[in-house]
This record gives sequence, structure tokens and C-alpha cells, in this order.
Amino acid sequence: IKEGTRMQSKIEFKTVSFVYPNQVKALNQLSFKIEAGKKIALIGKNGSGKSTIAKLIDGLLSATSGKILIDEIELNETTIADLRQKIGIVFQNPEDQIIGATVEEDVAFGLENRNLQFKLMKKRVNQALQDVGMLEYANINPNLLSGGQKQKVSLARSLALQPSILILDEATSMLDPIAKSEIKHIISSLQRKNKLTVIYITHDMEMLENVDQVLALDHGDLVFNGKPEKLYHETDILAQLAIKPPFTEQIKQLFKEHGYNPPVEYLDDRGLS
Ligand code: ADP
Repeated sequence: IKEGTRMQSKIEFKTVSFVYPNQVKALNQLSFKIEAGKKIALIGKNGSGKSTIAKLIDGLLSATSGKILIDEIELNETTIADLRQKIGIVFQNPEDQIIGATVEEDVAFGLENRNLQFKLMKKRVNQALQDVGMLEYANINPNLLSGGQKQKVSLARSLALQPSILILDEATSMLDPIAKSEIKHIISSLQRKNKLTVIYITHDMEMLENVDQVLALDHGDLVFNGKPEKLYHETDILAQLAIKPPFTEQIKQLFKEHGYNPPVEYLDDRGLS
């Protein structure tokens, strides 16, 4: 593939189950498709199986049964090395992810195993830092940055690898609202520009506002797969997912339109008025 050429990637799960070695059944026969270039939210309570899905897509775990296809190619021992190159993941805590002594070095870190010429590596690093608005911090020690800035550096590290699928595993949940909204905007514009397939793993209802598809998990079962606006008709599922405030005005409006009444304990000053 020519440098700079971006592929779009799709993902398909076919009756995928996953059982941890200690016999915890994390995923039960999941089947779904994520079309190339779409934005997906993967939601569900703690322990519902969201991170397990991320690890299966990234090949850190392999399915106990069923098939996972990325761009029609089944993930297995032979294909994993190639398929993994398509995937970028950003985790929740930027502190755990910083490794370089400077921002630039940190972003370059992931590229070191890719046998790129120095010039090309530098170009990719600069482009990624520019994409996240952190180019002017290239020579700074990342430990001096704010949480939001560190998370932008983590994002740049993933982007430098030019993934076609970007997974954000609670990547904004530790950030303040301003940093959160900046990262959201960066990702939306990158997604438009590079046609990335984006998977938000999130507790945050705000993230549902601009996704194409929602996958909701409960105890390892897929309980909803559809457009976000359809989810607001599914009052049982919303209750099952324990969807909670803080709600944005837009979400509150959607709740009202669809006649969803959240449980009374959610009706504090941040909830529905
Ligand atoms: P989520 O990301 O939605 O919080 P996880 O995918 O982390 O959920 O976990 C799904 C289930 O698998 C939970 O019951 C959890 O306790 C269990 N689990 C997660 N990681 C491990 C592990 N390494 N070993 C055993 N059980 C695990």
C-alpha cells in the first residue's frame, strides 16, 4: 500500500463466544457487523464484556468459538500480524500510556518496529501531532502535560501507525469536559478526513449523539444493535443498561421525545427536570 493511502475497514463477529481461563463467560454468541468508516458506540455496564470485545478485535485474545473477520479475513494465528496493523487503541488512563522522554519520541515509539526510514517516521510523527493539535509540544517532556494533552499524545501515537480502525476504550472518561469535547472534535474530523472506523467504548451518553450505530451489551449478551435514535424507544434496555446522568440537553430532549422516564434516583439536579 502506498504511503498515505488509507483503507477503510469493516469488522464482523459471527457467533463469537469468549470464556476466560477461570471459566468466566465474558461473551455469549455475539453476531454483528460494523461497516467501514462508521462511528460505533459500544455501551454496557461494568463487566458486560466491552473490553473483551476490544481485545478480541486487537488480537490480544482469541475467540473461544465463532469467527471474527476484519475486511473479510478471518482473524487467526496466520493473519493476526497483518490484521493488527489496521488497529489503533487508546485507553482510559493517559498516565499508563506515556513512554517517551519527549512528546515526539513518545509518538515515534510505536513506529520503531515498522522499519520506516527516519525521514518518513519523522513525517508521520509530525502529521499525527498536527492532527491532534500538539505539534508545538513536540520537544516537551510528556509528564509536564495536562491529562487532556497527554491523551492527545496517546491518540497521536495510535494515529502515527495509520490505523483504519480506531478503538477508544473509555479514552475520554477521565478528562474534563473541555478536553473531552476537544478530543471528540479531533476524532470526528479525522474520521471524516481518513474514513476511519471508530469504536467508542463508553459510559458516556454524550458519545451517543454523533455515532452511526450503537452496540449494547449486558452480561456478555448483545441486547441492542442499531441506530442511537432507536435505542430511546427501548425503555427496558435503557433501564437494563442503567443509563445515568449527567445528561446533555440533547439527550434529555431525546428522552422526552421518546417518553423514557429514567429511574427516580437519577432525577437529581443533573438529571431530567
Ligand atoms: P467491561 O469492559 O464491559 O467492563 P470486561 O470485558 O472487562 O467488561 O469483562 C467481562 C467479564 O469478564 C467480567 O465478568 C469480568 O469480570 C471478566 N474478566 C475480564 N477480564 C478478565 C480476566 N483477565 N480474567 C478473568 N475474567 C475476566
